[in-house]
Amino acid sequence: MNRKSNKQKMETGLLVLETKNYCALASTTPCKHCSVESYLGAKPTNTCDVDWLDVIEQFSEFGNGHVVLKNGAGALGLNEVSLLEATLEKGLSASITTEGVCMADKFESELYRLSGENPGKLGVTVSLDGETPEIYGQLRQPIHFDRAVSFIKEAKAKGLSVATNYVVHVENVGSIQEYVNFAVKELGVEKINLLELNSTGNAKTNGLKEADSQQYFDALMKTYVQGDEQIRLALDGTFAAEVYKAEKGVSEGCNGCPAGNKGMYFVQHDGEIFPCSSLEIPQYHVGNIKRMTLAEADNSMEFEYARKVAQSLTTENPLVSMCPGRLESFGDQGRMEQATEMTKIITNYLKEKGIEITKRNSCNCYSPAF
Ligand code: SF4
Repeated sequence: MNRKSNKQKMETGLLVLETKNYCALASTTPCKHCSVESYLGAKPTNTCDVDWLDVIEQFSEFGNGHVVLKNGAGALGLNEVSLLEATLEKGLSASITTEGVCMADKFESELYRLSGENPGKLGVTVSLDGETPEIYGQLRQPIHFDRAVSFIKEAKAKGLSVATNYVVHVENVGSIQEYVNFAVKELGVEKINLLELNSTGNAKTNGLKEADSQQYFDALMKTYVQGDEQIRLALDGTFAAEVYKAEKGVSEGCNGCPAGNKGMYFVQHDGEIFPCSSLEIPQYHVGNIKRMTLAEADNSMEFEYARKVAQSLTTENPLVSMCPGRLESFGDQGRMEQATEMTKIITNYLKEKGIEITKRNSCNCYSPAF
């Protein structure tokens, strides 16, 4: 296996690892919108034969980067502590994405120990889709709200950087501003990722509905424009920040989806490699980390394909591009129209305001969930 990439050293990179394929909540109190097939039925697989430490070692050889552990509830243990430790020892930063509900005490205390020993290098991204148990409970279970909130508070107190994932749907789109105020001002959340609900898996079964795009656009713009500096910083990764900067003449546009570029990899529990966790789709499946290296994945046809698709999804407007993963999730019928709705809204908005952006520049459009 060839460990050397013919890419230049990356400036930043993102390695997302899902070291286990189960979620402790799935069989008892599953999230009402869960769409992770392996959680909803499959038995956990033995993943001992993936050498995760070697994967991190390979990634660290490329240069700077960030490692994300993206496991389901209750699937973070001492093995994952050792992976965080190895990442930090290599001088890289790391984070976990979690629901913040079902975490072993030992894992949590080790997380705080590592945070204390590596200030500014460790973070958590917590799923929190509402500022009250009722709103949160529309996608998850209301009884878990207090635990998720107290985990966020504790993580902040222990010096971790804290982001939240907020899945936008028809019932919570109207309270985005209240949520952002709650998360930033009351919990000290530093970054908020807004993700649009996909009507698949449990969301489809439960009849959960996506938010109206215009309503979503208006709600987020209002929150951003009326927000203070701290709130704008938390929303910096959202389209509202880009639109606002464009109005002020300081936005330089975006090169679009970086999948297949920038040292991005997603490795599943069994070692299967994809360019991004939003692209767990057969045509993007590269191979297995047990039989190939990350450098070989870089040079694969599938990464090349991801780069081509991403390029084809940049639009005439340098401010907006589309996520290939989101496009796929709509299926064949009318998927382009649906996936481009927000793009159209943003383009029209800028046109009506007479804002022209001519320049494309690089951006940090890593998977919005991290
Ligand atoms: S989430 Fe979508 S837009 Fe972002 S890197 Fe992955 S595939 Fe590209």
